[in-house]
Amino acid sequence: MALIRLVDLRKSYRVGDVTVHALRGLSLDVERGSFVCVVGASGSGKSTLMNVLGLLDRPTSGHYYLEGEDVSGFDKDRRAHLRNRKIGFVFQNFNLLPRTSALENVELPLLYGGRALPPAERHARARGLLEAVGLGSRLDHTPQQLSGGQQQRVAIARALVNEPELLLADEPTGNLDSRTSVEIMEILQRLVRERGITVVLITHEHDIAEYGTRVVTVRDGRVTSDTPVQNRRDAAAERAALPPLELEVEPEPAEAGAEA
Ligand code: ADP
Ligand code: MG
Repeated sequence: MALIRLVDLRKSYRVGDVTVHALRGLSLDVERGSFVCVVGASGSGKSTLMNVLGLLDRPTSGHYYLEGEDVSGFDKDRRAHLRNRKIGFVFQNFNLLPRTSALENVELPLLYGGRALPPAERHARARGLLEAVGLGSRLDHTPQQLSGGQQQRVAIARALVNEPELLLADEPTGNLDSRTSVEIMEILQRLVRERGITVVLITHEHDIAEYGTRVVTVRDGRVTSDTPVQNRRDAAAERAALPPLELEVEPEPAEAGAEA
């Protein structure tokens, strides 16, 4: 059974006297453990699709089956309940709380969703995830003390804290340079491989889409092509081949007895 099955999804927005048709009969299956990259021009309906997939919004018509269950008619509360248990989100702008440590940002979703974990367990889980994304030494840093790539890694750790099956990422590398983008794609590829998470990632960059297992093109609210990636890019290998950043070089130790 596909993790996700979308059948003839339509979504229209009413803006004054005008109706905007953002999704116009979109159908798509997503298998468990796949890494699907959705590409398309601005305005093609990618974010609308993401909002429906993420149970943030409801389609105007059509069906959304999640693990075989038709969730397209679920009300707000049922959608929120399902979303908290099954879906994690990563956004272009990271959406972290300012003046709040990385650790607390990652713990935050555990305070909702009705799972009353004891504080020590919350900390441990958040710390473990931050370590998994390479930020074990930055637990107390606030977003403004972190680079964009580091903030996105905090956001990925936060998205995983409720152990979702599905990770949705809307232009997660949109604000990052190409080197940092490779690092983020490396983390996502690893999550799919090692944890069996299913990723649906939206991008308008075709080279980013080649890190996925499948590229789905959306145009005018419909799927216009859906193809397996032939020569899949390996982010870990690409990153290993990059020269180290000067910033990553450890500073020289201060000379002994140098203090005045
Ligand atoms: P993309 O993410 O591919 O750029 P969107 O899904 O954001 O596309 O938008 C698809 C279309 O729907 C656009 O024409 C956009 O203006 C319209 N749209 C999206 N969200 C809304 C909304 N909340 N209200 C009205 N129109 C919207
Ligand atoms: Mg968008």
